Amino acid sequence: MSDMKHKELPDYLGSTLTVKCEKCKEELSERELAEHGFICPRCGGYNRMPARMRLAMLCDEDTFREMNECVESENLISFPDYDEKLAAAKAKSGERDGVVCGTARICGNPVCLFVMESKFMMGSMGTVVGDKIAALFEYAAKHSLPVVGYTVSGGARMQEGMLSLWQMAKVSGAVKKHSNAGNFYLVCCTDPTTGGVTASYAMLGDVIIAEPGALVGFAGKRVIEQVTGVKLPASFQSAEFQLGNGFLDDIVPREEQRGYIGHLLAIHRK
Ligand SMILES: [Zn+2]
Repeated sequence: MSDMKHKELPDYLGSTLTVKCEKCKEELSERELAEHGFICPRCGGYNRMPARMRLAMLCDEDTFREMNECVESENLISFPDYDEKLAAAKAKSGERDGVVCGTARICGNPVCLFVMESKFMMGSMGTVVGDKIAALFEYAAKHSLPVVGYTVSGGARMQEGMLSLWQMAKVSGAVKKHSNAGNFYLVCCTDPTTGGVTASYAMLGDVIIAEPGALVGFAGKRVIEQVTGVKLPASFQSAEFQLGNGFLDDIVPREEQRGYIGHLLAIHRK
């Protein structure tokens, strides 16, 4: 494990870029959005938050130590255009792949953390994402530490074919070993959490929470309507719908998550 501090945050607070709110589509500066924790000051809609901003929001100051930060994806099955897509995703996100992992403290409680990054191919789950999260759970099991995970994902990474689907079983196995040793796992589903991530580690938490309004589901609404011929309600697969149907334990506003998670970690501290 590296003892490096996490790298400098991208300078969102100095950004002069104009962006569109993902919800109301109003234009505003990236700086204004970052100042509001990526919650739109116009409509209150939750915009996707960069992984390192989440870490800064969650962790006690200067406690995050990144793990396996140098691991990078390769084009293992020579999938057309994947090398170019990887290069573009790195430039867009500033990350080497779709998840940031490490150890930290939250409200004084030691924890292992993984935070997926939407700007890297919409958090799609390839071999590196699976490897890093499985390694994190193995480290946490070895050191009797809880895991807190933030998911955002369009699902398995199709450019890695069957190898991406294997990650579901690999990470689920690591989660199970961690759980069998009596360790706590909390997952927070953010918008969107779908596909192979939902079908594996996003739904394996002892406590599963979500952000307000997040899309949480497996297959998309249109696909299900086409296959079943059933018209689905507008709220289908929203966090609120999933809470009402028992898929989630709670919906926690962004500004309350650090205290909420810190409290649960303190209760389960060994
Ligand atoms: Zn808005």
